[in-house]
Amino acid sequence: MAITINTKKCDNCEHCIKVCPFGAIDAEGNGDFDVDGGGEGKRLIINAACKNCGLCIKACEKNAIVLIDDMREKINKDEWRGILVFAELDRGKLHPVVRELVGMALILAGEKRSSEEKLADKDGRVPEEKKDTERHSSEVSAVIIGNDVTDPAQELLSFGADTVYIYEHELRNK
Ligand code: SF4
Ligand code: SF4
Repeated sequence: MAITINTKKCDNCEHCIKVCPFGAIDAEGNGDFDVDGGGEGKRLIINAACKNCGLCIKACEKNAIVLIDDMREKINKDEWRGILVFAELDRGKLHPVVRELVGMALILAGEKRSSEEKLADKDGRVPEEKKDTERHSSEVSAVIIGNDVTDPAQELLSFGADTVYIYEHELRNK
């Protein structure tokens, strides 16, 4: 994401410079603001300190500041596969809601599986090239972060998770 200033709308009030808590807007150049964007005048620059907090966007009465969400175009969600459940621990044990979450994930994955079964031909065979995609797209995984989490991980498998990812560290004891 990036913040950008439309110089055609900007009326050089400098309000955004005062509002930015990170000192991320600089006025560069001499003379008047370059209102039409084509001359040698002063212009506003968003520097590297910008945290994309959006305060300047709200503050600009001319709607001259915009957030460009350039990441959104790059992410193809059609390529996302499977369902991942974050398994929260409460004093070393799985939080009760985790079982429900895994159950919901299995229901969703089951719906996905049945729609994928429609890929099969009339004899029930799924084309080779679709098998791997099918398996991953309906897989339920869980991730668990803690210390000595073997028992909760086994429990997740008993709930029906296909795969459990474990991240252990002694500092995650509490
Ligand atoms: S608040 Fe808006 S109009 Fe004022 S200087 Fe900033 S961008 Fe330009
Ligand atoms: S988005 Fe936030 S950090 Fe970035 S220039 Fe605007 S006010 Fe400053």
